[in-house]
Amino acid sequence: MAYRAEYIWIDGTEPVPLMRSKTKILPDGAEVGVWGFDGSSTNQAQGANSDCVLSPVFITPDPIRGGDDKLVLCEVLVPDTMQPHPTNRRAAAVEMAKSYADQEPWFGMEQEYTFFEEGRPMGWPRAGYYYPAPQGPYYCGVGAIEIAGRQIVEAHTDACLAAGLAISGTNAEVMLGQWEFQIGPVGTVEVGDHMWMARYLLYRIAEDFNVNASISAKPIEGDWNGAGCHTNFSTKAMREGYDAVIAACESLGAPGKIEEHLAAYGHGYEDRLTGDHETAHYSEYRYGVSDRGASVRIPWQVAQDQKGYIEDRRPNANIDPYEVAALMTNTVCSDWSKR
Ligand code: ADP
Ligand code: MN
Ligand code: MN
Ligand code: MN
Repeated sequence: MAYRAEYIWIDGTEPVPLMRSKTKILPDGAEVGVWGFDGSSTNQAQGANSDCVLSPVFITPDPIRGGDDKLVLCEVLVPDTMQPHPTNRRAAAVEMAKSYADQEPWFGMEQEYTFFEEGRPMGWPRAGYYYPAPQGPYYCGVGAIEIAGRQIVEAHTDACLAAGLAISGTNAEVMLGQWEFQIGPVGTVEVGDHMWMARYLLYRIAEDFNVNASISAKPIEGDWNGAGCHTNFSTKAMREGYDAVIAACESLGAPGKIEEHLAAYGHGYEDRLTGDHETAHYSEYRYGVSDRGASVRIPWQVAQDQKGYIEDRRPNANIDPYEVAALMTNTVCSDWSKR
């Protein structure tokens, strides 16, 4: 008998990579090993030298196929050297996690996304002016006027749990058809592994409903919320004392750091970080307690307890979580280690 392993990877599409996957059939009991693919079809190689290597890094049960079948998240390597491909941002996150393992960084990421059906956000009218009633009743809403796509959200959550992912919650968002799930808190590499696997399951399950789940940062222009990936972060020192919480906020706002971070915070951040819709304008940096108009929010409970974590509200829905987690770990932990 045999089982199926779905090999999953992140491609080289610009400016926002796509996820790809293909199926390998293995004899029962056989281990998943390295595999290859045609990089010239994924913007990862030239036709004359097209092979890229898939190297398994995170394996879970396949909640869609069930049985002994598996999901196999891979990193992409260059065949000649077996070194990380330029599109592989996981390798750098692994190095960063090793460098600052003593500070025990944790991440919780809030993935916002929008369901699209027949070219428009799910639940939006198909006739007339094509716009629903203005934002207000949709966030954490209940009922057929307020909600679209809950069946898919529930199926996705079931699948994440069955795969053993560190999903920590879901909610309907401010724009009709927009939702969120949270991953974490887990380490610098794990947050990327679990997030990419959860994204894969979202796309795959929505596909069965003929729905596209989009992580576009500003799917609809105008007075409609964009989609972010708020990144909650702590170190052991932050979980033990407020000095380290403030130090982290200061590190993120240090000269040069603001630009460096924005560059990694996702395609189209200028369209989303306008200063409206619960964002700070991308040209400013400020942090504050309970402030959802700040770049970085210190949750009320954290100020109360004088320890905990911070929320960087700037990352877009379309970030590479490996890249953002590695960067935050570097910025905050390198400063702290110099004290
Ligand atoms: P919001 O109020 O911003 O919508 P959410 O409940 O959606 O907040 O998300 C909070 C996130 O913070 C979760 O992903 C959770 O795992 C994460 N989190 C909680 N505690 C910590 C911590 N100590 N370090 C890092 N992340 C944390
Ligand atoms: Mn949230
Ligand atoms: Mn949200
Ligand atoms: Mn948030």
